[in-house]
Amino acid sequence: MDRQQEFVLRTIEERDVRFVRLWFTDVVGSLKSVALAPAEVEGAFEEGLGFDGSAIEGLARVFESDMLAQPDPSTFQILPWRGATEQTSRMFCDVLTPDGEPSAADPRNVLKRTLAKAADMGFTCYTHPEIEFYLLKSDRPGPDGVPVPVDQAGYFDHVPGGVAQDFRRTAVTMLEDVGISVEFSHHEGGPGQNEIDLRYADALQTADNIMTFRTVIREVAIQQGTYATFMPKPFSDHPGSGMHTHFSLFEGDSNAFHEPGAEYQLSKTARQFMAGILKHAPEFTAVTNQFVNSYKRLWGGGEAPSYVSWGHNNRSALMRVPLYKPGKGQAARLEYRGIDSAANPYLAYAVLLGAGLKGIEEGYELPPAAVEDVSLLTSAERRLMGHHPLPSSLHDAVRQMEDSELMPEILGEQVFENFLRNKRDEWQEYRLQVTPYEINRYLGIL
Ligand code: GLN
Ligand code: MG
Ligand code: MG
Ligand code: MG
Repeated sequence: MDRQQEFVLRTIEERDVRFVRLWFTDVVGSLKSVALAPAEVEGAFEEGLGFDGSAIEGLARVFESDMLAQPDPSTFQILPWRGATEQTSRMFCDVLTPDGEPSAADPRNVLKRTLAKAADMGFTCYTHPEIEFYLLKSDRPGPDGVPVPVDQAGYFDHVPGGVAQDFRRTAVTMLEDVGISVEFSHHEGGPGQNEIDLRYADALQTADNIMTFRTVIREVAIQQGTYATFMPKPFSDHPGSGMHTHFSLFEGDSNAFHEPGAEYQLSKTARQFMAGILKHAPEFTAVTNQFVNSYKRLWGGGEAPSYVSWGHNNRSALMRVPLYKPGKGQAARLEYRGIDSAANPYLAYAVLLGAGLKGIEEGYELPPAAVEDVSLLTSAERRLMGHHPLPSSLHDAVRQMEDSELMPEILGEQVFENFLRNKRDEWQEYRLQVTPYEINRYLGIL
């Protein structure tokens, strides 16, 4: 028993914790939870808790289904929304095989492996997500089939007495209560759309925080009689919900992306990292944008990118170098704008980081910055400037991922195959649907 584990056991006793939930995710990032009685926690630390991995999407096959969930004591947290007495707590888990080895199919383990690789190269990776979501009146759409947002406000709008404002205040307080620091929160562009930005943390902690964030946001919405959705594009006519993420690599105490005096103050490491992400973006978009619906956002305007490009102050770019503030070299970072709010954060951060590290390893050259809105160029101009399109559908994204050499390397063969299988099934199911759009468009044709 190590000191962190002892601390958790002591806290459970002192705070009269009644349930300890063990959390992990499946291959698409759905949260899985099992509640333990306090007396069982010591055993779970020592041996892990057994469960049927074959019942969890993408984790194990039926003939090798026994898995173990081993709680990570550094993630112990009381869950405030379950009330002050007989408290509930949670810990994130690593999934192990029956012989106690980290499971290759566990998304959290995939990110840990990528971070270990970064560490071998001398880097710690920090991330800062801007998470967008819609607040709706209910989980049911209106009679016209369109979801009903809680307000009609827009970007940065201050709505006196507004639902969203109360919502954000309660949500931010609850996030801080579970140890997640919030930097900004504001109304976003769509009606009922909000954004909450988390303070930077190391990439594994950020991914854990995003899983917690989604749960907290949903809980607070339900408590207030509304409904929160992280669906990438719930409305045809309003912007989608992105999860722009800022990345930085540190070498010891210094930001490896910063070089005073260089163009945009960006070091060679930063340029190569960005070149890696840009080069491999079409191969990993199935992971950062994993649902049929994700591609409605990527091709629906609303400041979401559709082409591979980078820029300084250009909101159509896939990657952006945020404005440099003199004396703030430690804050140098690169923003990836492609990823949406429904991504599995463990796998998405693994592929983004893995692609960036590949760029550093292989010394990739960064193409020139895009100077204008790439979507306004002609296709010939785009081709000339190397602005390749992002995949235009889940089908296209899966195809490009299948041909990738780097993705199985980053994800491991098992996750690579399980993920693709899941996504092919999703596409197949979607293909079979005859949509209201088609009925309207074609019923009277000819
Ligand atoms: N909602 C936009 C997206 O989908 C982003 C808008 C913004 O933050 N500028 O990426
Ligand atoms: Mg923002
Ligand atoms: Mg935003
Ligand atoms: Mg942003």
